[in-house]
Amino acid sequence: MHCHTVFSDGTRTPLQLVQEARERGLDGAAITDHDTAAGWTEAANAARELGMPLIRGTEMSAHWPLGGRKISVHVLAWLYDPDGRRLAELFARTRQRRLERARIMVANLARDYPISWESVCDQAKESDATTVGRPHMADALVAAGVYRTRADAFDGVLSKRGPYYVPVETPTATEAIRAIKDAGGVAALAHVGSFARNRVILSDDQIRACVDCGLDALEVRHRENSPEQRTRLTGLARRWGLLVTGGSDWHGRGGKPNMLGENSTDAATVKEIARRGAIPVV
Ligand SMILES: [Zn+2]
Ligand SMILES: [Zn+2]
Repeated sequence: MHCHTVFSDGTRTPLQLVQEARERGLDGAAITDHDTAAGWTEAANAARELGMPLIRGTEMSAHWPLGGRKISVHVLAWLYDPDGRRLAELFARTRQRRLERARIMVANLARDYPISWESVCDQAKESDATTVGRPHMADALVAAGVYRTRADAFDGVLSKRGPYYVPVETPTATEAIRAIKDAGGVAALAHVGSFARNRVILSDDQIRACVDCGLDALEVRHRENSPEQRTRLTGLARRWGLLVTGGSDWHGRGGKPNMLGENSTDAATVKEIARRGAIPVV
């Protein structure tokens, strides 16, 4: 229910996602690139051809304002109407801001490291349709011989706490969820218990506020959610009648170690998500 391709920061094409899902014997897969639906057509064509059920979705970047700081929040949006105006505007805005931010970060890095805007864009596989981000800067640094792996680059000069980092401006979580619901989609908070991404994670009250905006599900099974967090989130889901999903957050080989099919979602839950969505499962 949570997979990335070359249309954001994954290393595999939508066709390869569908092929690999079939090789692994999965009953289906979802494509959820960051802030874009650009990979949907290619994924849907592959899914039809290979007879692999496909859920079309997007992982939206959002935040929860917290004093002067922000909690980064990722919202999975499945089966929404891509012509929903409010949502399309939010994606366009976020992509534009990501691009501006990427240019500033690369300019900062280029003062001290042998990379350029061109060498970073060379790493974005689908060029214009790809949301350029830190993974592409990491790949450019690896290509230039500064680091051995993408992960080393993230721990190094691309770190959020490092001097080169520039944050991306995103909508608030409640804005994002309202826009997804407005477009008839199904909304889930992704890896909401992950301390790898935030020092402070969403509180029960903050998640409750998301539920009041129409949140459908919590991604409980994700490799970054600790056993304690899974227990907590399962309890909240039960209390508020939310669906519980799992996600591999697959990025393809060489992207992240996450394996396609890890933390899958049960058939009954997928069926309910399909029932709620504005567009059909392919
Ligand atoms: Zn995420
Ligand atoms: Zn993801």
